[in-house]
Amino acid sequence: MTSQIALVSETPHVSLAELTIVANALQKQVTRDFSLLWTVTATVGAFQTVEDAPVGSWHVVIRDDIVSDAAGIHQLDASHQPFALVRWAAQWSLTASHEILEMLADPFGNRLMPGDSPKPDQGRVLFLVEVCDPCQSAAVAYTVNGVLVSDFCTPDYFAPSGTSGARYSFSGAVTEPRQVLPDGYLTWLYPATGHLWQLLMEDGNRRLTDVGPQPPANACLRVTSDRATAKLRSAAYARAPRSGLISRSEDGRGLREEAISKAASASSTRIAATLRQQIQRTNRSG
Ligand SMILES: [Zn+2]
Repeated sequence: MTSQIALVSETPHVSLAELTIVANALQKQVTRDFSLLWTVTATVGAFQTVEDAPVGSWHVVIRDDIVSDAAGIHQLDASHQPFALVRWAAQWSLTASHEILEMLADPFGNRLMPGDSPKPDQGRVLFLVEVCDPCQSAAVAYTVNGVLVSDFCTPDYFAPSGTSGARYSFSGAVTEPRQVLPDGYLTWLYPATGHLWQLLMEDGNRRLTDVGPQPPANACLRVTSDRATAKLRSAAYARAPRSGLISRSEDGRGLREEAISKAASASSTRIAATLRQQIQRTNRSG
């Protein structure tokens, strides 16, 4: 089954042109990098408004203000479809990539996989399948068509034990199951107490925290998990490399031009110029 993801901008910082460039890059990331590893398929499109997106779409809305402290959150809409909100920032494409990949691996934010706890006295626990959190840092992000996108963990990352030659994150930066990279985190449910726990790599330190009781049944574990790590995400993104960003200036001016010039290689510019000339010639002769 193919999921349909609709990117919508509700901020003046992101034009439809910029949105389209990012949607195309994310489509390529999903099709080329993510689909085979997680056995999901999806279309990613850019739409002017949420009303324009086809019924049944999973909306991903970019805004200047979102209620949570997190850079991105996902929940369920009135028709029980997952949706995500992304706070606009220079590296918003990284957040959008993070949210979309996690939505595809686990639409409802409650998928759990058993494994041994990073806290040895807990024994067997249930890990929340959040494919981008452990490697969310901009330091291990990569670019698709010049657009910054998130690294993500593979199903082997959540496997109970490692196998030689396995790939644990797409970039290869993660080298063993349930490893957490700097500025990343991992969340699990400790069934003995019903509490959520997290392992955070913060400022170079490994920190284990008891997040508290899991939310009531039907509530989304992902929302609780993301809320507890909003500060970490900001730190992870503050270390964004200065290349591959869709928009570097904070004032919103020149974003579209910059985005287009980044996406357009010298050859695509040349092909476009030739095409324009052909169109003009055709019009003149017609
Ligand atoms: Zn996440």
